[in-house]
Amino acid sequence: MNDLPITKDEILKELDSIQAEDLKYSDGRILGSMCTEAHPFAKEVYMRFLDSNLGDPGLFKGTKSIEDETVKIIGRLLHLDNAYGNIVTGGTEANIMAMRAARNHARKYKGIKNGEIIIPKSAHFSFKKAADMMNLKIVEVDIDKNYKIDIASLREKITDNTVAIVAIAGTTELGLIDPIEEISEIACENNIYFHVDAAFGGFSIPFLRNAGYEFPEFDFTLKGVSSITVDPHKMGLAPIPAGGIIFRKKEYLEVMAVDSPYLTVKTQSTVVGTRGGASSAATYALLKYFGKKGYSELALNLMDNTHFLKESLEEIGYELVVEPELNIIAFNHPTKSADELSKELEEINGWKVSVAQCPKAIRIVLMNHVTKTHLKELMKDLKELF
Ligand SMILES: *Cc1c(COP(=O)(O)O)cnc(C)c1O
Repeated sequence: MNDLPITKDEILKELDSIQAEDLKYSDGRILGSMCTEAHPFAKEVYMRFLDSNLGDPGLFKGTKSIEDETVKIIGRLLHLDNAYGNIVTGGTEANIMAMRAARNHARKYKGIKNGEIIIPKSAHFSFKKAADMMNLKIVEVDIDKNYKIDIASLREKITDNTVAIVAIAGTTELGLIDPIEEISEIACENNIYFHVDAAFGGFSIPFLRNAGYEFPEFDFTLKGVSSITVDPHKMGLAPIPAGGIIFRKKEYLEVMAVDSPYLTVKTQSTVVGTRGGASSAATYALLKYFGKKGYSELALNLMDNTHFLKESLEEIGYELVVEPELNIIAFNHPTKSADELSKELEEINGWKVSVAQCPKAIRIVLMNHVTKTHLKELMKDLKELF
């Protein structure tokens, strides 16, 4: 650390030159990220709430009421009249909270000590973190030939120690939606906590349905669904960090509550203590700013780009792994491996795709910063590399 102060100008100059090493979303080369540039209005709102601390909500009653209302609005979008939950740092923290609620609930009401969670291979790695932290055993349910949870396998995996079943609405690798209706019924029959991870799909499926897309039910309409993760910092265009955990019942927060003696409220259920209120304010502002209409238009535009990319790829002869359900495309070259092609794409023009592992494929996430112009440039290169 320097002994003497350094001028702001000098510091900013240094920071600018370091930041120049980062990729910029606006260059359109980031093709494998589920995040994107935040909306300018959300950034403006975020700055106004930088100092508010939701870890001590008695001091920030206004901001706390914004968080509560944001949770209620997202809850209503997911067909739950009176939602409980929090705006957290992202899908990971939301999933950790859901698994903690499920474990504590099963411990309290069923006396389960060595809990198991049933998750598909396609689940996000955040569940591994949750299981590791809470000493839960991961039981992997099989996926079928369409890369979705196999219902027969799920029935077989349930034991007396199952504390949660997890399904995904918008898988991280392929953007697919599990058969949530059937799983909800199984969860009801067996009286097991059912968590839907819609970190990716949560800000798109409801709006696409609104616009006429036919998706099966995936939300609180299904009475077996106990909680849903939704990430405003993905298709919601909120600044990082912004995740959402929505619970059907207040008791799921209550079973996680610990005493918080020196604060203005008596208990706390979140994983994090001191936590920003800016994410809630920015998300709230965007929900109002776009409304259902605005978010539907955004979601439709992403699907339009998805279909454009799909058709362009098929025209050349690339093979799609599955028919896309949301704005993710996974494909392969008939002979080159995904790793090879990914390397060539980076070399030819700095394209940053990601490589899906199950199955191995080039994975492109059509986020807001990826425009048709970028996609046309990409296709020119993919044609050359074919
Ligand atoms: C992105 C994602 C997560 C993790 O969210 P973070 O915000 O990166 O913590 C979890 N589940 C799914 C399905 C996701 O797409």
